[in-house]
Amino acid sequence: MNLFGLNGEIALVTGAGSGIGQRLALGLAEAGAEVACFDLPGSQGLTLTVEKIAVLGRRAIKYEGDVTKAEELHDATVKLERDLGPLSIAINCAGIANAAPAESMPLEQWQRMLDVNLTGVFLSCQAEANLMLPRKRGSIINIASMSGSIVNRGILQAHYNSSKAAVMHLTKSLAMEWSNRGIRVNSISPGYTLTPMNLRPEVAEQRKVFERDTPLGRMATVDELVGPAIFLASQASSFCTGLDLIVDGGFVCW
Ligand code: NAP
Repeated sequence: MNLFGLNGEIALVTGAGSGIGQRLALGLAEAGAEVACFDLPGSQGLTLTVEKIAVLGRRAIKYEGDVTKAEELHDATVKLERDLGPLSIAINCAGIANAAPAESMPLEQWQRMLDVNLTGVFLSCQAEANLMLPRKRGSIINIASMSGSIVNRGILQAHYNSSKAAVMHLTKSLAMEWSNRGIRVNSISPGYTLTPMNLRPEVAEQRKVFERDTPLGRMATVDELVGPAIFLASQASSFCTGLDLIVDGGFVCW
């Protein structure tokens, strides 16, 4: 089990106030890490995440900011090293989703999606790598989506799908830039997962379809993303970089 252990590691999770990010922050702590939890200012979920980790006897501190703002990420990463120690694991999970027909999608809606889901991941990786590269040690995990590989039938989200395809290729590009400098960069692409994102009104009717179309016959729970994240964060994946780990109940096979 030591192969998967994270004792002594310092982790950062963005989007840690809700859904997958909240569960992954807790999961890293369960595996032994101390966790810096980052989300938008005023996130009530973020306080809950930190409280849940404290119950485990692990250190956790919340940092508020916006992943589209480089200076807020920089400030958070500087503070977390002062508060917790040298950053060695980062999971970039902050993201948004919505839907609109491509032919009438306002430019602002397209741009906001790319700003949060793509530029936000790039800026997060940049801030994290600037701390990790001098020490030549770190594992960065970007949360992409199976929507980066396939188009979700019935959901009009060209902007979301494009942002996730770009996150997968950004991950590979950074993995290659930093491959000889001690930093591994991988992505996880979840399939349909039960989180607040899938309680959006436009997705309500789709949930039964999600279950029907997923070979395992159901949506994922957030618990089921913990194992893949610990794998990529830990020494268990020491020869993996530039990988996109699809966790979709078999969806992309059909
Ligand atoms: P979620 O419950 O909405 O969590 C996303 C978190 O990111 C929220 O706390 C959100 O804050 C935060 N966030 C949004 N914009 C931010 C910003 N600019 N700066 C900092 N934090 C920000 O969604 P989720 O379902 O857990 O999704 C997490 C990630 O998994 C996303 O990247 C998503 O695309 C990906 N994913 C999800 C699924 C799925 O089925 N759920 C499938 C594939 C991939 P607010 O709540 O205040 O907006």
